[in-house]
Amino acid sequence: MTRFIPILILFTSLNLNAQNDSIFVRQIFDEALENGQSYENLKVLCKSIGARISGSKQAEDAIRWGRHLLKSYNLDTVYLQEIQIPNWKRGKAEKAWAENSTGEKLTLNILALGGSSSTNGLLKAEIVQVKNVDELKALSSDKVKGKIVFLTEAFDQKHINTFSAYGHCYPLRGDAPNEASKLGAKAVVIRSLATPTDNFPHTGVTEFEDGVKVIPCAAMSTQNADDLVKWLSNGKVMLNMELDCATLPNATSYNVIAEIKGKDNKIITIGGHLDSWDVGEGAHDDGAGIMHNIEAMRILKTLNYKPNHTIRCVLFMNEENGNFGGETYAKLAKENNEEHILAIESDRGGFLPMGFDVVGTTEQLATVKQFETILYPYDLLKIKEGHSGVDIGPLRKYYPEMIQMGLAINSQQYFNYHHSANDVFETVNKRELELGAASIATMVYLMDKTLK
Ligand SMILES: [Zn+2]
Repeated sequence: MTRFIPILILFTSLNLNAQNDSIFVRQIFDEALENGQSYENLKVLCKSIGARISGSKQAEDAIRWGRHLLKSYNLDTVYLQEIQIPNWKRGKAEKAWAENSTGEKLTLNILALGGSSSTNGLLKAEIVQVKNVDELKALSSDKVKGKIVFLTEAFDQKHINTFSAYGHCYPLRGDAPNEASKLGAKAVVIRSLATPTDNFPHTGVTEFEDGVKVIPCAAMSTQNADDLVKWLSNGKVMLNMELDCATLPNATSYNVIAEIKGKDNKIITIGGHLDSWDVGEGAHDDGAGIMHNIEAMRILKTLNYKPNHTIRCVLFMNEENGNFGGETYAKLAKENNEEHILAIESDRGGFLPMGFDVVGTTEQLATVKQFETILYPYDLLKIKEGHSGVDIGPLRKYYPEMIQMGLAINSQQYFNYHHSANDVFETVNKRELELGAASIATMVYLMDKTLK
């Protein structure tokens, strides 16, 4: 009989722990929903600063704003981490129109892709149409040389998670200009990587390999792309295009970092990216993620939580066109002999949170899954293997044993707004944003208590 007593005590204390955790998590959500500041703070970031591509004055304003806001929450430390950033500018002239053999014109709404070169005045050439990068690579250079390559592949609407459709089409933007340049193309235009058919172009970064000539490249609205495909079915079409972008020498910028010190020196990083594209207001991408993380810090501080490990919030700079912020953060962590055990990123918009994607071993996934019953009342139903985030990704190069997570949200609307003039504050729902902040704070709390 006596042999069972320790087991009974163990079960009782486990239950008590779970009960205490549930009570604290309830307090986190209450604080976020009753006293939340994330929505008003996001409004300031979007409306007073707005679009903030790294290297811009607005990005520097955002750094000052983020540092000041974090300082106002009386965290243990707030500081800047210096980084180098690439420095691409869109310029002013940005126009394009197609012209068929009867002289009809079709005006195209375009946005240069990040990394594009200038057209140096008006560029005019015949369009060669391909569906995707595989089709492009199958062409011989005499089919492409001196022409403008037009890539047409649309999002596959059957994907339930729109990030999966985006991932499938990503090479159109990320790789096609480089491949077309190798074949002698003058320029590249693509169908925007977006879910809906509408008139808004969506920009984003493209990359050229060393030694490959940087050529002009732009995205057109999905509606324009569909119209242009129809035109091309009736014969030869010429494209006129003017872009005025330039890549300046690398510049200095900063990640913004704040900490609540732990009882030991192990580090839990939470973060998102402070930079955005240079159109819209960067509300969902990634103003919302920035607010999730700043608000999580505020909530844990307000509830007087004393963590076992140091909770470090990082507002990363330059995720969008280089990820120099994330790369530098990881490299310096290793150089400074820091011990990183967990990182969580929010970079999928301010929509309804649904759970967490986990990067780690089967055992690490099981560690997170043990919280399912605590998370269930908050509709955080999906704890599964998946992606974490671009900014925290490089940490795993140096800390392969660490756990990483990405806040999973309802993805249905994200690619209506992503990298376009439509990504504005008005499209963010206050309660959904607050629930996201509470979700991050909750996961930090549960993992901080669990990880040794
Ligand atoms: Zn983002």
